Amino acid sequence: MQDQNIKEIVIVGGGTAGWMAAAAFSILLRDPTIKIRLVESDEIGTVGVGEATIPHIRYFNQLVGLDEKEYLRRTNATFKLGIEFVNWGQVGDRYFHPFSPYGVNMDGIHFHHFWLRHIQNPDAAPIDDYNIQVLASKLNKFAHPQPNLRGSPLANIEYAYQFDASLYGKYMREVAESRGVERVEGKVVEVRQRPEDGFIESLKLESGETVAGELFIDCTGFRGLLTEQTLKSGYDDWSHYLPVDRAVAQACELAGPLTPFTRSTAHKAGWQWRIPLQNRLGNGHVYCSDYISDDEAYDTLKSGLDGAPISDPRFLRFKTGIRKKPWNKNVVALGLASGFLEPLESTSIHLIQTAIARLMTNFPDKIFNERDIEYYNDRTLAEFEQVRDFIILHYCATQRTDSPLWNHVRTMDLPETLRQRIDIYKENGRLYRHDNELFGEHSWFAVFEGQNIRPKRYHPVINHLADDMLEKRMTEIRRAMQKCLEQFEDHAEYLQKRT
Ligand SMILES: Cc1cc2nc3c(=O)[nH]c(=O)nc-3n(C[C@H](O)[C@H](O)[C@H](O)COP(=O)(O)OP(=O)(O)OC[C@H]3O[C@@H](n4cnc5c(N)ncnc54)[C@H](O)[C@@H]3O)c2cc1C
Repeated sequence: MQDQNIKEIVIVGGGTAGWMAAAAFSILLRDPTIKIRLVESDEIGTVGVGEATIPHIRYFNQLVGLDEKEYLRRTNATFKLGIEFVNWGQVGDRYFHPFSPYGVNMDGIHFHHFWLRHIQNPDAAPIDDYNIQVLASKLNKFAHPQPNLRGSPLANIEYAYQFDASLYGKYMREVAESRGVERVEGKVVEVRQRPEDGFIESLKLESGETVAGELFIDCTGFRGLLTEQTLKSGYDDWSHYLPVDRAVAQACELAGPLTPFTRSTAHKAGWQWRIPLQNRLGNGHVYCSDYISDDEAYDTLKSGLDGAPISDPRFLRFKTGIRKKPWNKNVVALGLASGFLEPLESTSIHLIQTAIARLMTNFPDKIFNERDIEYYNDRTLAEFEQVRDFIILHYCATQRTDSPLWNHVRTMDLPETLRQRIDIYKENGRLYRHDNELFGEHSWFAVFEGQNIRPKRYHPVINHLADDMLEKRMTEIRRAMQKCLEQFEDHAEYLQKRT
């Protein structure tokens, strides 16, 4: 049988997506006859933001063989236990979305049902007291998980990182190059297609050099050089659900304690991120250009900085949505080229990671089986939609009436998938996790509760539990949390010891 294996992979783009893909492929594709090249243009540059992550990044780092200590040092990274949301339900509100679940599920029923019953008692403790990561975040403390302590909240600490994206990209480049990935510097000025079926054959660089390949990975960012500009894959625009379309980013000096969490503060026409690194704070105001000018948006950002600015403001434009065919012919789009969901829940780098894993599972040969491609695209869409719905929840579950943005999102039509979830939750507090989707029940609960949406009832099966038994269990859980909290250390000191 003729060898149909792919032998030449060309990654176009050297941002976070391009170099993550290069590093992963260099490890996962063990066949030494496969040649991987990455073309990037220093002249064009990268988007340069993307500093907050979710816990899955740790698995990616393990895959590419990073030592945590070295990684923390080289990317100026800090630990992240979750996100604090300010002003989202109503102006003045604050809540945490921690990475780990609350309390302990009992009798197969999610903990939040027990808490919803418990709060009928006026002396009940707030939900934050049942989550070790929220308690630690409020004290700016951190601890690594201790998986050997089975049953203890310390066993299940879920953490991520906040890091310098450009340093991470450089690190990934080093990993990839050390494993044989060839970097080609140059601007792609022409994309050549096979006349018979439109598959991409080669790229022409400004220097005149030609780079040929069999599988192309489009990591060229929002411009989607191969997927859109060449193959016209199309884009599903979701900005009617998520209308923010611009951001202005600016770093500032560190100020105050080093928080082990990202903060998202809602403003009148968008929201502002605050991401602490070891050496600076990353900040950005994500906003909707229908409701605020760039100048006003920057003024809002500046007045919300905790420290003195240390970089020029950087303006970015985007459109929320997804490429209609993230995999089209012999081009797979990754990162911003495949679609974009605003960074409210720090999901973009994660979506790069899962796309790489999905591509590996469905890795093609030169036949490029259309069914595999359809399957890949269906799963990508499902994943994007699940994340999209969760992000929309933050907007639609608001009580704010103080500006056109909030009036719009509070009253807008919702995707049916989300409408159903909200209706079910409001009735009896039930939450579901479909197809191992990214955000589990506790995440949905954190946002509902944090934004003042309480169900009418809780799970009917827990009524059999006697009041005193429920009180006893809740007290025990709180005590266990407090006890475990003693093992946490000041985040800044902890980092210093480990870098
Ligand atoms: C405002 C904002 C905030 C964000 N915050 C987060 C966050 O907190 N967490 C998170 O996970 N993600 C975040 N993201 C997303 C994250 O920044 C991106 O997912 C990530 O940086 C990947 O970008 P990329 O590699 O796809 O594209 P880019 O960084 O844009 O890289 C594109 C690459 O393509 C190359 N290129 C383009 N055209 C050509 C050409 N003609 N020839 C040769 N090379 C070319 C460029 O040189 C560059 O190397 C954020 C995004 C935005 C816009």
